[in-house]
Amino acid sequence: MKKLEQIYEGKAKKVFNTDDPDLLIVDYKDDATAFNGEKKGTIVGKGVINNRMTNQFMRLLAADSVPTHYVEELSDRETLVKAVKIVPLEVIVRNIAAGSFSKRFGVREGTVFKKPTLEFSYKNDDLGDPMINDSQIYAIELATPSELALIREYAYKINDFLKSTLLECGITLVDFKLEFGKTSDGTIILADEISPDTCRFWDAKTGEKLDKDRFRQDLGNVEGAYQEMSRRLFGK
Ligand code: UDP
Repeated sequence: MKKLEQIYEGKAKKVFNTDDPDLLIVDYKDDATAFNGEKKGTIVGKGVINNRMTNQFMRLLAADSVPTHYVEELSDRETLVKAVKIVPLEVIVRNIAAGSFSKRFGVREGTVFKKPTLEFSYKNDDLGDPMINDSQIYAIELATPSELALIREYAYKINDFLKSTLLECGITLVDFKLEFGKTSDGTIILADEISPDTCRFWDAKTGEKLDKDRFRQDLGNVEGAYQEMSRRLFGK
C-alpha cells in the first residue's frame, strides 16, 4: 500500500490517502505541542515509539473485542488504518487526579479515585476544547445516545485493559484521552493513538513521570521518559 497525497497534518501526525478509499496511512512525527499549540518543540524518536506503542495496544484491544482503526504497521513511523470520520470528542478517563482535573476541582495531584471518571471535551481548537456533557453532545449532534453509550462502554473497557497491562510493566496509568471514529458503514471504532502523548504514565514505585508532562512542565529528560516506556513495554 503506497501513500498518495497528504490529506491532513495534525500536531503529531500526518495522514495520507491510499488507492483504497477505506484505508489511510498515518505517519508519526517527532513534533510536540502543548497548551493548545502555544508551546512547541521536538521530542527526538517520539514518532517511532508512539507508532509502535499505539499499534501494540490496538492489536491487543482488538483481541479483547474493542474494534480499532489499526490495520497494519508499515514501517517505524507509518501505519495503515481504516478511514473514519472522527467523532469530535476527546474521551478522557482518569484513575488518579492530575492536570486539568486537579486544577479545575482543586484536588491534589496523585489523589487516587475509588472509581474511574469519564469526561468529554468538544474537539475544537478555536474554542479551546471545552468540556461537554451528554445532553449538550446530543443538542449539537456530535453523537447519538447509542453511539455515546458504546463509546463510554469501550472507554471503561480500554481503561481496565490498559491499567492491568501497564501495571505488569511497573507503570501506573493515571489518565488518558481517546478518540473514536465512524467507518463508512456507521460502525464506531477506536482511532487516533494511545501513547505517552495522550496518557499519563507514572513509575509504579517511584511516581516518576514517564509521559508528555515532562515536556509540558519542562521537567527535563523528555526523550528518556519515552524511551523508558518503550523499554518497559518492548524491552527496547
Ligand atoms: N490529553 C490529550 N490531548 C488533549 C488534552 C488531554 O491527549 O488535548 C490527555 C493528557 O495527556 C492526559 C489526559 O488527556 O493524559 C487528561 O488531560 P487533562 O484534561 O488533565 O489536560 P492537561 O492537563 O493535559 O491540559
